[in-house]
Amino acid sequence: MQKQTLEQEHQAPLIGVDIGGTNTRIGLFPSLDTPEFMLLAKFPTHADYDEQLQHMAQVLQEQDVRNVAGIGVSIAARIAKDGQTVIFAPNLPGYIDKPFASQLMALCTSPVRLAHDTVCGLLAEARFGVLQRVERCAYLTVSTGTGAALQLGKAGTRLISSIEIGHQILDGNSRQCLCGMTGCLETYTGGRQLELRYRHPIEHMTDSAFWETFVEKLSIGLVNLAQLTRIDVIAISGAIVLNNPSLLPALQTKIDHLLTPSRLELCLAKLGETAPLVGAASLLAIPEDSVLH
Ligand SMILES: [Zn+2]
Repeated sequence: MQKQTLEQEHQAPLIGVDIGGTNTRIGLFPSLDTPEFMLLAKFPTHADYDEQLQHMAQVLQEQDVRNVAGIGVSIAARIAKDGQTVIFAPNLPGYIDKPFASQLMALCTSPVRLAHDTVCGLLAEARFGVLQRVERCAYLTVSTGTGAALQLGKAGTRLISSIEIGHQILDGNSRQCLCGMTGCLETYTGGRQLELRYRHPIEHMTDSAFWETFVEKLSIGLVNLAQLTRIDVIAISGAIVLNNPSLLPALQTKIDHLLTPSRLELCLAKLGETAPLVGAASLLAIPEDSVLH
């Protein structure tokens, strides 16, 4: 029998929190029948973990949301397998190994669930966006870093996991990655790494050879993912794709050329920048053990 979710148990409002590398947003969701929410706060994410925790607690106490069914948190960081702490966060190093979930739960006296932002993006797209009724799919963000989450299975029995798609090794790539390894895909596709390499933001890159290489390397990474998992659809988000409308069709053309006989469909994610926030609240509507951190 499928486990009850917090949403089913309480029918009370839910809180979603999206902690990005730049901004934090906190939303109140009257229900999860629609992706609509009331924005309670938006503030620059504190690099200091204690300041961030205090700021979040202050917002939640001011709104008197102590009786919400639960708090779902999306964070731009790799989460420990027990779902309780941050273990890798290039943009938020001060959060690593802190008892984030338990401290937040103690402050707010509500159940707390924590997940990688790509897991939350996938949940939002699967509930309200382009991944509805798709059994095998992924959510990809192409921004400061290149991250993804994978879903295998039907709603109710599905498993969702964040995956290190940006840190798969490409043959013949001698570039040093910021993660410490050599040869990662993200050395060709990660906004932060490329900005350090070329010394200016990559949205200003006008060199067509640069973008050809970008498309070629990312296509190989996505074809590898499709072959290893047999996914059918990828919902794509992130500033680099959103700022380059020609990128998605170029990627699709390249993938169609490389991948045979199966087909991988790329779609622009529907929920845009609200996906991690909507997905954070959605964490409370699915069985806890359906997410592998
Ligand atoms: Zn890497």
